[in-house]
Amino acid sequence: MKNLDDPISKLKGVGPKKQEDLFDLNIKTIFDLLNYFPFRYDDFRMKDLSQLQDQQTVTLKGKIAVEPTVNYFGKRRNRLIIRLLVGNDVIPISFFNQPWLKKNLIVGQEILVYGKFDSNRKTMSGIKIINETKNQGYNSIYSVNSKITQKSLKQIIEQAYSEYQDVIEDFVPNWIIKKYRLENLKNVIKTMHFPKSQADVKGARRTAKFNEFFLFQMRLQTVKGQKQKSEKAKIMSDKLTLMPFIDKLPYELTAAQDKVVNEILYDLHRPYQMNRLLQGDVGSGKTVVAALAILATVLSHKQAVMLAPTEILAEQHANSLAKLFKDTDINIALLTGDTPNSARKQLLPRIKDGKINLIVGTHALFQDTVQYHDLGLAVIDEQHRFGVNQRRKMREKGAATNVLSMTATPIPRTLSITTYGEMDISVIDELPGGRKPIKTTWIKNNQVRLMLNFLKKHLKNHEQAYVVVPLIDESDSVDMRNVTDTYEKFEQTFSPTYQVGLLHGQMNDEDKNQVMDDFKKNKTQILISTTVIEVGVDVSNASVMVIFDADHFGLAQLHQLRGRVGRGQQQSYCILIADPKNKTGIERMNVMSSSTDGFFISQKDLELRGPGDILGKQQSGIPNFKVGDPISDVNILSAAKNVATRVTDEDNWQQLAKNKNLVERLNAINNNTSFD
Ligand code: ADP
Ligand code: MG
Repeated sequence: MKNLDDPISKLKGVGPKKQEDLFDLNIKTIFDLLNYFPFRYDDFRMKDLSQLQDQQTVTLKGKIAVEPTVNYFGKRRNRLIIRLLVGNDVIPISFFNQPWLKKNLIVGQEILVYGKFDSNRKTMSGIKIINETKNQGYNSIYSVNSKITQKSLKQIIEQAYSEYQDVIEDFVPNWIIKKYRLENLKNVIKTMHFPKSQADVKGARRTAKFNEFFLFQMRLQTVKGQKQKSEKAKIMSDKLTLMPFIDKLPYELTAAQDKVVNEILYDLHRPYQMNRLLQGDVGSGKTVVAALAILATVLSHKQAVMLAPTEILAEQHANSLAKLFKDTDINIALLTGDTPNSARKQLLPRIKDGKINLIVGTHALFQDTVQYHDLGLAVIDEQHRFGVNQRRKMREKGAATNVLSMTATPIPRTLSITTYGEMDISVIDELPGGRKPIKTTWIKNNQVRLMLNFLKKHLKNHEQAYVVVPLIDESDSVDMRNVTDTYEKFEQTFSPTYQVGLLHGQMNDEDKNQVMDDFKKNKTQILISTTVIEVGVDVSNASVMVIFDADHFGLAQLHQLRGRVGRGQQQSYCILIADPKNKTGIERMNVMSSSTDGFFISQKDLELRGPGDILGKQQSGIPNFKVGDPISDVNILSAAKNVATRVTDEDNWQQLAKNKNLVERLNAINNNTSFD
């Protein structure tokens, strides 16, 4: 019985040598081979020249009208001109520095020329002359290597198609094919390899992209097998139980906050562990959303933890949560690496017996020595600061712990679907009212005076300012001098009228806390810092952010830094100081000065630097798709994700198991490494 997962060696003519060569193209099975699609098509049919777009690459077919000429200019440079009669037009086609092409050309001969068409001048700049005219339709061009020729690959594909076409069956469920008006797989494979027209290819390619994304999403969703149903994961409280608390908040929830609270409560209510990522720009009010999830958990007689990446943040969260929860029965404790042993000894048993129902802290929270009574919810703030294993350790502290991860880094849609594909995503896409967008200006190094005058004005007005200096390497002494130099210069300029603080990563935690505390209490008015202030710090009286050598930072990081101001009612400012040396640097500064929209900025970051640079190649988790482009085809990608989520949902799981073709396809992917 023929099967698409047969190895390619089943084909006649594919011996060990050819098999190896095909392996190099990542083709192992018949399925791989049939899904190894052309990356381009040459159109060998007569063209209506008036239909061609300017600079379109096309293949023209015509007769050589007159003897081709070669003109020399300079020592080695020359140009061959072929005048090709195409229909009633004579098109001059230029080839540079390839005079030898001329000797095979005969007047009156019919040839095909592949090149770039200039529709204004009706000329072409030639790329390649194709002598065979036997293919009259659309010609598929594959990406090949030095061992395999177009011709031999095409032959093998043709052979595979004719032998296996009867066993090509759809793995995408029928209702999806109908809903998204997809084509069936057999048709897609046939059209992609042997198309008749451009329009044919377009439809087939769309389905091919969908199929590729769909399989990828299915794999993400099923890696861990069916989501485990567990009554223990259920949090009983609902919106109504939370209403008295919500009513007492000093502000109204924004519509966006309200929406994500509903999404979270819905998840918590279901007998499956929640795995949700809450995205919200700095200042969008994620803390209170987390607080509501925590309250729901505690009211349902379970424990909750709130995990933060640094001591400063953990303390800040403990304080603001204590304030929010002061009229509730929540017993809150702070547990960090700094917690003294004696206090720790008292805390641990009370955590274990459940007397304490909310624990805020750092990495200490998932250490072996800490045992929980019944951990129902783990909130992980700034989730990207924790490794996969750390997050797993936290989750495994309870029998069925729901996880709410939070991040202020806006994730472009492409990445949220690929890299974060196994998570559900909630987005707070609105800032609480009354907040004014931060005004950003970019100045050059020789304009620093302007910045100093500007600062003086705002300090006089009892506001505070951050001054950030980049540190490439915290241990590099040259860099360190940079921060301390800046610190001294600001001291000279502003002291004794204003106090200047200094914060960097080489200080011990106690000193850091002291410096932060002084700034919070307005004992210091200017804080010179490295990027250690990047995360979550909240001082609403700070209204000016100055960033030196701003072009040394990525857009996402600049956006994070800028978010440290603009947290109060007054107008806030960000001043970028940079003399960027390249175009990307200039564009980065322009993006920052013109936009405060985190999603726009992150998408730009993705375009300017590529996904690998943002998350690290290993981490980016974006596989090398063959047909689809996860950035420009993000809509198809998104549809594939929605569908895959539905297919793997509890109600459809039984259905899925019955879909033999899909199950086989998924098994084949898991055994193979086509996606890696
Ligand atoms: P982030 O999302 O950056 O963690 P926070 O939760 O720290 O933001 O919230 C920033 C500030 O906005 C806090 O001072 C908080 O009290 C305030 N805040 C949160 N939600 C609202 C709201 N709906 N209306 C007004 N202020 C709010
Ligand atoms: Mg926060």
